[in-house]
Amino acid sequence: MSIIEYSAVELGKKIQNREISSVEATKAMLERIARLDDTYHCYITVEEEKALAQAARVQAEIEAGKLTGPLAGVPVAIKDNLCTKGMLTTCASKILYNFVPGYTAEAVLNLEKAGAVILGKTNMDEFAMGSTTETSAFGVTRNPHNKDHVPGGSSGGSAAAVAANECYYALGSDTGGSIRQPSAFCGVTGMKPTYGTVSRYGLVAYGSSLDQIGPIAKNVTDCATILETIASYDPKDSTSVKRDSYDFTSGLVDDVKGLRIGMPRDYYGAGLDGEVKAAIERVAKELEKKGAIIEEFDLGLVEYAIPAYYVIADAEASSNLARFDGVKYGYRCKNYEGLHNMYKKSRSEGFGPEVKRRIMLGSFVLSSGYYDAYYLKALRTKALIKQAFDRAFETYDIILAPAAPTTAPKLGESLSDPLKMYLGDIYTISANLAGIPGLSIPVGRDSKGLPIGMQLLGDCFKEQTLIRAGYAFEQSGVFTPAVAVE
Ligand code: GLN
Repeated sequence: MSIIEYSAVELGKKIQNREISSVEATKAMLERIARLDDTYHCYITVEEEKALAQAARVQAEIEAGKLTGPLAGVPVAIKDNLCTKGMLTTCASKILYNFVPGYTAEAVLNLEKAGAVILGKTNMDEFAMGSTTETSAFGVTRNPHNKDHVPGGSSGGSAAAVAANECYYALGSDTGGSIRQPSAFCGVTGMKPTYGTVSRYGLVAYGSSLDQIGPIAKNVTDCATILETIASYDPKDSTSVKRDSYDFTSGLVDDVKGLRIGMPRDYYGAGLDGEVKAAIERVAKELEKKGAIIEEFDLGLVEYAIPAYYVIADAEASSNLARFDGVKYGYRCKNYEGLHNMYKKSRSEGFGPEVKRRIMLGSFVLSSGYYDAYYLKALRTKALIKQAFDRAFETYDIILAPAAPTTAPKLGESLSDPLKMYLGDIYTISANLAGIPGLSIPVGRDSKGLPIGMQLLGDCFKEQTLIRAGYAFEQSGVFTPAVAVE
């Protein structure tokens, strides 16, 4: 196996055994980025010198016996909405084109404490608003399995970087599916933890009540290990949860005997691509063979999830993005007359069309006279969706669903019809509204060779159960994801 093909945990072991050094692995990744990233454009920023210096520092600590964890010395890519001290953080927006944060996001800090080497910052939809990584102000990312197709979004750069072996693993953020859907489109494994598990401190806020940071990696073992490293109780994030346990890797057991798995009929009807459906049904059969109990059931309320999500997410976004005004951060327009005109022009020139659409929609649903009719109604719907999941988890340990209704669309097909693009989030956004964890795992390919992903959903704090089922599926050997780029 070549050095670039190892999973994060495999590489970590080789580094601990002194078979490979962190510097060698970092160089291998940087060479690969230099060779491939003009084509795929997974990164907005690559920090060669910093990465090599960090790798040398980490290697010395490993050799001194100070860093013994599974991710020590392993190079990682970070989504560009996570603040990194001294390193450009743009959120793929012109308005933050020159923003260099003075502090590092807690999740990234946790990785650095564990000896991670940061390669750079990955491309994304502008402020994480989108499903294709085409709304980035810095150009599109291409799907490593077929460069005419999108990588998904909004964490498309992170997912594509993992698929193209341009990093060993990456961090993404998931407000409505932005870790799970690009993972599915790129044939990699991604996890959105229970809301509050990973500190949002230093994550540039989109929809604060929905945002969660999580891992994108080559397999379930890596995801569990990364989650164990980034999750922490953090008083700097008022929504951070003090969990009873931060042990996720104990879930890595090949045993689903007696596990009750529900398949919501509402997720398998009209709109779901036949090849995606067939692939998920194959997974269900495999898990059944291994002793799981599979049943269909009605989840309900699915048709209300998208409107509720887009009202709540946009309302929060309109408030969160008010801080970008040409004064405190980033871009300021060249010519203006007075303060008010400066705000207006900086924002008009700095934000892209999708972000503006959402700020306008969000401001509208929060405005007096419409607040009750839209925002409050959406919050009530959110509560009902949570109840529907609570009911489902009285009977089932896990919900088995597709990650997305189709495989990755072609570049340029989605942006012309934003409403259609929003509908593609149908299977992922409910998990954010309910705050529950979700794990996306590659399970097949369609006739065009594009990856198909499944999604496992569990009740709050039940990541271990998802990890167990996902790991058991991987061990079945029914589907082994292929390398996207030789
Ligand atoms: N596609 C969804 C949106 O545009 C989800 C994005 C995300 O999870 N950040 O809002």
